[in-house]
Amino acid sequence: MKIDNMLSEERILANLKAHLAYIGEDPNREGLQQTPKRVLKSWGELYAGYKQDPADIFTVFESEGYDQIILLKGVEMYSTCEHHMITFSGKAHIAYIPNEKIVGISKLARLLDIYAKRLQIQERIGKQVTDALERYLKPKGSACIIEAKHLCMCARGVEKQNSIMLTSSLTGVFLNDASAKSELLTLIKL
Ligand code: ZN
Repeated sequence: MKIDNMLSEERILANLKAHLAYIGEDPNREGLQQTPKRVLKSWGELYAGYKQDPADIFTVFESEGYDQIILLKGVEMYSTCEHHMITFSGKAHIAYIPNEKIVGISKLARLLDIYAKRLQIQERIGKQVTDALERYLKPKGSACIIEAKHLCMCARGVEKQNSIMLTSSLTGVFLNDASAKSELLTLIKL
């Protein structure tokens, strides 16, 4: 069957109902009657990133020679693992050293969300964030370090409750210059 024919809301709701029956539930019991609708609504938020374009948030300003690390650290992040469609969440630290352009700091958090609110793997989110910083700001260096807990790992399979996955996407001076990199890591730990 063509994917297009499967995309009506009515059809998705019927699929979600079948999904409930498949796992052993009675989709008609009171507590579950509205569940397919709620799931569909939650997808609107969990996957909002597909409808957003980073180009829309990059209103840039002249840097006026600010040759320093700009870091937004500890940004809360929620995403969904593309292998299991289960949440992974944690914190991201996003940084760059401007060349000629800077962007409002809140835009860095929005940029993260554009990519996190899709089906993802953690490594790709960091890479997409630094790719976008490179594309729109052409900075001296950019970084996106993410630490996250993957519920697909905690709740099933290996059941490792406390492991944290760390990924680090670095470009420019953060990659090539040991002192820039160590300054960044010190600022993140402060
Ligand atoms: Zn997973």
